[in-house]
Amino acid sequence: MERLRLDGKVAVVTGSSRGIGRAIALKLGERGARVVVNYRTSQAEAEEVASLIRKCGAEAVTFRADVSRREEAEALIQQALDRFGRLDILVNNAGLIRDTLLLRMSDEDWDLVMDVNLRGTFYCCRAAVRPMIRQRWGRIINMSSIVGVHGNVGQANYSAAKAGVIGFTKSLAKEVASRNITANVVAPGFIETDITTKLNERLKAELFKRIHLGRFGTPDEVAELVAFLASDAAGYITGQVLLIDGGMSLG
Ligand code: NAP
Repeated sequence: MERLRLDGKVAVVTGSSRGIGRAIALKLGERGARVVVNYRTSQAEAEEVASLIRKCGAEAVTFRADVSRREEAEALIQQALDRFGRLDILVNNAGLIRDTLLLRMSDEDWDLVMDVNLRGTFYCCRAAVRPMIRQRWGRIINMSSIVGVHGNVGQANYSAAKAGVIGFTKSLAKEVASRNITANVVAPGFIETDITTKLNERLKAELFKRIHLGRFGTPDEVAELVAFLASDAAGYITGQVLLIDGGMSLG
């Protein structure tokens, strides 16, 4: 258990005001990490996450930044360095969807999804790698999706961005491995968040037939995997894509 603890580590979790990012920030805090909770619009929710982390006895601050904007993404990473003096763990979780069939997909639908999911990951990683190299220790976990591996109707923009995250992370893993920095991808299937709870019961029942474990995953289950990858225990895992999808990708 000692090797799963994150005491003394500093983590940035992008998009941690809600959903999966919230669960990840809470989990890292529970394990002892000091956490920068990032949000773009949901300030009150982000403050709640930070206060729950403090209740566990760890430190946490909130920071507003739109990760798709270079200056803001860089300011987010700088916040960790200014407040806590180091950066050990970066979780690029911020993401969004703008689903529509390709024939109807606007340039704006394409650009927004690419900018937040892929460009934001690039900006945050580029800024984070320098302090991690200096420390000779780092953990980068980038959030993709089962859709980035298998594609999905109505999600050409999202699947391109999430597949991009996979290729990006594999290259990054090779570039930084000699500095004791790992970079991995977590690719969830259907997880219970604001998006999936809105699905109608008939569609849910259809989906459950394709998920061998017969249910959606929980944000906490994704957070467990991320916290493991962020720990010393996962030090020999890099450049991997870990699907967490209840067996859905088995077909
Ligand atoms: P969510 O509930 O919609 O939460 C998204 C989070 O990202 C929010 O905290 C939001 O912050 C933040 N965010 C959005 N745009 C941002 C930006 N430009 N800059 C900074 N933060 C931004 O999403 P989720 O379902 O938890 O998904 C989290 C990640 O997992 C995403 O990358 C998603 O693609 C991936 N994923 C989710 C599922 C699923 O079933 N839910 C499956 C596969 C992959 P504000 O509210 O403050 O704006």
